[in-house]
Formats: sequence, C-alpha cells, structure tokens
Amino acid sequence: MSNLSHTGQAAYLVINAGSSSLKFSVFQGGAKADLEAVINGQISGIGTAPRFQAKDASRHVLADHGWAEGENPDRATLLSHLIDWLDGHLKGATLVAAGHRVVHGGTRFAAPVLVTPEVLAGLETLIPLAPLHEPHNIAAIRALAEVYPSLPQVACFDTAFHQSQPWQSQTFAIPRELTAEGVRRYGFHGLSYEYIAHRLPQVAPELADGHVVVCHLGSGASLCAMRGGHSVDTTMGFTALDGVPMGTRPGTIDPGVLIYLMREKGYGADDLEKLLYHKSGMLGVSGISNDMRDLENSDQPAAAEAVELFCHNVAKQVAALAGSMGGLDAVVFTAGVGENSTLVRARVAEKLAWLGVAVDPAANRAKATRISTTESRVPVFIIPTDEERMIASHTLNLVSAVSLNRAA
Ligand code: AMP
Repeated sequence: MSNLSHTGQAAYLVINAGSSSLKFSVFQGGAKADLEAVINGQISGIGTAPRFQAKDASRHVLADHGWAEGENPDRATLLSHLIDWLDGHLKGATLVAAGHRVVHGGTRFAAPVLVTPEVLAGLETLIPLAPLHEPHNIAAIRALAEVYPSLPQVACFDTAFHQSQPWQSQTFAIPRELTAEGVRRYGFHGLSYEYIAHRLPQVAPELADGHVVVCHLGSGASLCAMRGGHSVDTTMGFTALDGVPMGTRPGTIDPGVLIYLMREKGYGADDLEKLLYHKSGMLGVSGISNDMRDLENSDQPAAAEAVELFCHNVAKQVAALAGSMGGLDAVVFTAGVGENSTLVRARVAEKLAWLGVAVDPAANRAKATRISTTESRVPVFIIPTDEERMIASHTLNLVSAVSLNRAA
C-alpha cells in the first residue's frame, strides 16, 4: 500500500465507476472556490483487458498502461495501482479524500454523505432501483476501502438534487402502496443540474430566482425545471430511461408497447432491458450511430430523422416543464450535445419560437455563453457542466465539516 506524503495542498480524488470502466479526476485546493482540476483519466476494460490512462490539465498524457492478456487484475488491484501512481504525481499535495458519483440515493440520501459501513449497507438496498449502475458504484467504494482503509470516502448522488421537487412531480398515478415502496420519480443528472444552479447566478444574476429549464443533452439526456436554483420537475423518472430520446435509450415510451412485446413477441425482462438501454434512441432510429456527431455528418435520411426526433422531443419537454413550473425565464444547454451541437440548439430554439425564444446564429455557432438575440423574450445560454467539480466540492465540504467537528 502506498504511503502518500502528508504535506502541502489537499487533493481530492473523484471517481465515476461504471461496469467496465472507472473515470477519475483529481482536484487540488484548500477551498471550494480555488479547487483546480489537475489530473483526469480512466481505467477501461475492467474484467477483460484493463488499461490505465491519465492526462494533466493541459491534456498531456501522463500515463498509458495496459495489462498483458491473462493478467486481468481485479478492481482493488487496479485502484491500488491508481493510488500508487497518484503518490508519484501529486507533486507534494496530500490525498485527503475520495468522492464518488453514486447514481441512486433513493429517498434516504438527500445530500452527499461520508461513507460508513451503515451507509454502504443502505446503498446495497438501492441496487434493485439501479441494477445497471449502483453495484459498480458500490464495488468501487468497497475496493478503495480495501486498498486504502483510512481514506475518507464521500458518496454524491445523481438523484439528490431532485429531492426538493413537489409531491406531484415525484409521483406516478399508481396505487399508493407501490409509491410507498419507492416506485416513484427520482430524476437523475442531479450533480450536473446542481453545478448549473450554482453557475447560473454568476452568468446571469437576474435569473437567480427565475423559472429556468436546463437541457442536459449528452449520451444520456434529461431536462430539469428549476425555480430559484431548486429542482421542481425533471424528465427522467424511476430510472434513467424516461424523458427524451438518448444515444441508445428511447425516452418516454407507452408502457403498452412493453406489454405488447412481452405478450406477442415473447420478450422477457432481459430482452426489454437490452432493447431499452442499448438498442433504441438515436442508434435504433438511425440504424447508424448513437453519436450525434455521426448523425450530423451523415447524408442518410434516417440520420436526419433521428436528429429531428431528438430535437422535437427536447423542445416538447422544454414547453412541458415550463408548464409544470408556470413560467419560462431562461433555457440552458449543457453536456456533450448541448454544449457542442450548433444544429441541435438551433432546431430546438426554432421549435420554441412561439414561446419567444430566438437564437442568434453567429452566437450559437461561436458557442457564446448567451446565444439568444437581444429581442428574445427568453434568454438562452450554453453553460458547460462539471459534475466532477461538484463531487470534489461536496467531498471537500464534508471532510472539512468532519475535521471541524473533531477539533471542536
Ligand atoms: P456526454 O454524455 O455529455 O459526454 O456527451 C457525449 C455525446 O455528446 C456524444 O455521444 C456525442 O453524441 C455528443 N457530442 C460531443 N461533441 C459533439 C459535437 N461537436 N457535435 C455534436 N454532438 C457532440
């Protein structure tokens, strides 16, 4: 086990663990405002052919290491490699804690928490709510605890930001017993929305109390209605399948389709899962790719149709969320597609012209922060999201609070 030097600036390791890959970044700094991202990287091919890659803040490659076939190190060994590697690359800083992105906090976790055995047991009970993600989040926490037991770990939840929603936004119209069991709308991408809620008043102070729809459009996509920086409604629900179409997920689909597929075509739960998580969305409609760049560059009619279907549903949901919160003072685009696709932003804005949305083509092409025309009744912004920074910031807060409590 590595022996990290305990001098200099504090460093925070941020981990986003998936089924076969683990993305990480390192932030350094003594206070939330001066946290600086210094390293980011990933361990890919976990379970098959692992590869460790890391870059510094200027995107210079710091490490690129693959394991020979047959070696197949487990998660704990790979995390031990990461910790040892960090020991030589933190330049005098001290790793003081790790923060994890955890997809589901259920009804219990309304805010980030310091991981304890009791919290881990609580997270285990949430696996049925997010079977494709939660087990990998938990596995990374357990593996890191195994290789570095004294390192404080913080769990930050994608669902937590939406706990502020009113009852009617969180509830399906189903028998109350099922709602009480936890079959309700949770919402996701909460760390991204929380970051935007924190950035928006800096970008446009006059909107601090406004009705804002944030469009987080990435390979997973959702929209959030925010009032005064708090989530009041969102398009994702019980799982990350609901809402607008995504790279490989369909978004909202009539549940009757699933009954039809089960009854008439013999689909089981695994078949439905494969269809809904991996074969639908932009990939399913275009038959070409799940990546918006490929679709925009294609001359195939099916690619253009997929982009149109995506923009149609995003615009529809902006209007639905404006209706849900009773107003629309701004629209924000964020995440991979939202930040980078001039075409998607332009098409969505065109479809919202009736609401007083007008985007300036030059500002849109230039990816300006404010892309609406001066006449636009509703201002439109591009704000790059930074979920990792949000996790680092929560981790710093919690670890500082614990040290203060100990000192008191
Ligand atoms: P995210 O999940 O937020 O990392 O977003 C990833 C997705 O963003 C990719 O799958 C692409 O579809 C999309 N994307 C990234 N860059 C561009 C671009 N320049 N134009 C259109 N889409 C993009």
